[in-house]
Amino acid sequence: MPELPEVEAYRMYVETALFESPIQKVELLREKVMKSDWKEFKKQTEGQRFISTKRIGKYLFMQLENKKWVLFHFGMTGKPEFYQSKEVQPKHSRLIIHFESGLKLSFVCMRLFGRVELVNSIEQYQKEHKLGIDALEVSQSDFSDYLSSRKAAVKTVLLHQNAFAGVGNWIADEVLFQSEIHPEIRAHKLTKKQLERIYDDLQEVLKIAVQKQANYHEFPEHFMVKERWGDGNCPKCGEELKRIVVGGRGTYLCENEQAG
Ligand SMILES: [Zn+2]
Repeated sequence: MPELPEVEAYRMYVETALFESPIQKVELLREKVMKSDWKEFKKQTEGQRFISTKRIGKYLFMQLENKKWVLFHFGMTGKPEFYQSKEVQPKHSRLIIHFESGLKLSFVCMRLFGRVELVNSIEQYQKEHKLGIDALEVSQSDFSDYLSSRKAAVKTVLLHQNAFAGVGNWIADEVLFQSEIHPEIRAHKLTKKQLERIYDDLQEVLKIAVQKQANYHEFPEHFMVKERWGDGNCPKCGEELKRIVVGGRGTYLCENEQAG
């Protein structure tokens, strides 16, 4: 499932060609992915040029000259893919943006959980969808204040998209592993020092994941993410990683380092 790092990589990818040419037409191949009124979507996008992008968590917004935004949310299997007129349309294309230059941008989505939408205001959208501040933009003090006010397990709180958008399951596990914090510790019981450490590790894990464009096999040796598929061992002490369930989510940890 595309998480914050993948979607940031997608954002950088679309920016390589998005602004070059106006939209000639939009073509919808599967109605299921279109969450806005299709006629209105067509009317507001055709003839427009894209002028900027913004990512919040796993949501990619692309702004048009008329200040409206086209939103791509990738669901389980979605991705953007550019191709030229003479090339074969990518498999599982659900919506195609045709540019006047002949370039096309496909919203590819095999399992159809993704969606495309026309958004008037990002702030309004965030409110309506209870979407928090992007996890890479949240401040240390807002982060600490939020965790200190929650009694749920720290792992569960890190996944609250209404607080910090974009922290997915493996990211939360990796952060707590790096911070040497047990995922079941109640968030409000964490010390100031622990909260600072979790914040720093969250920023570090996200930045590395974005830099590596979410290619997990290129992650640093001390990351556990590579080990979490199969019978992984702790990259620090070599012990077998333990799998537990926290708040309904599969969770990996090393009991040696994450004792408390
Ligand atoms: Zn270990």
